[in-house]
Amino acid sequence: MPNTFDYDDIRASVEKCLGKDNLGWVRITTECFEAIKKHCDQRDENYPRVAQIKQKFGSLRVYIDGAQEGTFIESRLQKAVQEAGMSCERCGNVSTPQVIGFWHTNLCCWHAHEAAAKRMQTFPKVGLNPRAKRNALQCRSCGYIGQIAWGASGHRCPACVAKGW
Ligand SMILES: [Zn+2]
Ligand SMILES: [Zn+2]
Repeated sequence: MPNTFDYDDIRASVEKCLGKDNLGWVRITTECFEAIKKHCDQRDENYPRVAQIKQKFGSLRVYIDGAQEGTFIESRLQKAVQEAGMSCERCGNVSTPQVIGFWHTNLCCWHAHEAAAKRMQTFPKVGLNPRAKRNALQCRSCGYIGQIAWGASGHRCPACVAKGW
């Protein structure tokens, strides 16, 4: 893969890897590389070469050449990965990885509904997290895990409550 990551236009480079619509993760990753750039500038070091940035099984994966454990760069990347693990890819809302059909993704309940509805046009039987073990944070209407509108909701996620699913 040619090195297309451009430190003069970090955001555009990140968007190319993660997709323009995934604003939540684009922001997290862009901030991470801006910090790395600043760190290198201050020390007059070369920027690390980015091999790959992608979403896999609902988590953010960032591969750079020659990453060494215990360095600022390595720990800053770890921080971004952790933050992405708790954030919707699309909007950055609090979120945990979900399975829509067989597709692993990290989306808040609103974006999971949107994605599931789209996917059901092609695969009418896909649901959210159909194989999940009993989970106290699972919506009883749609199967989303991680966001429950406590109160008069009947144990459903905020998106189901709002849509009356
Ligand atoms: Zn979202
Ligand atoms: Zn729901």
